[in-house]
Amino acid sequence: MFCAKCGAELKGAAFCAACGTEVNSSVAVPIQPTPNSYQVPTAPNGFAPKPPTNGLAIAGFVVSLVCGGPVGFVLSLVALNQISKSPTPQGGKGLAIAGAIIGGLSSIYLIFVVGAFFNGFTSGY
Ligand SMILES: [Zn+2]
Repeated sequence: MFCAKCGAELKGAAFCAACGTEVNSSVAVPIQPTPNSYQVPTAPNGFAPKPPTNGLAIAGFVVSLVCGGPVGFVLSLVALNQISKSPTPQGGKGLAIAGAIIGGLSSIYLIFVVGAFFNGFTSGY
């Protein structure tokens, strides 16, 4: 926010530090947000709210836990990729890593089970 009278940056003060004018939000020039810049909304108490959790990270973790296997592993990897590439802060990285580990381990387990299954069929050769 900037002073309507002299244009000095106000930094949340009630009075302009440069000219002493009382800050009136209806007179002050509003900053136009650029479409690509995400401004983290600051709560009145000064604490920034928790960044939103990546939905795919939750999905990957849940799928890994419930179904296991490659689907949860791939979902978690995609979620990790999304979180690392996102221009906005996103939560759920721990979930995505956990989902990838669980999904990856169960994938390996699945490969062994399927391998043993086929070995049983092909053992006659
Ligand atoms: Zn001023």
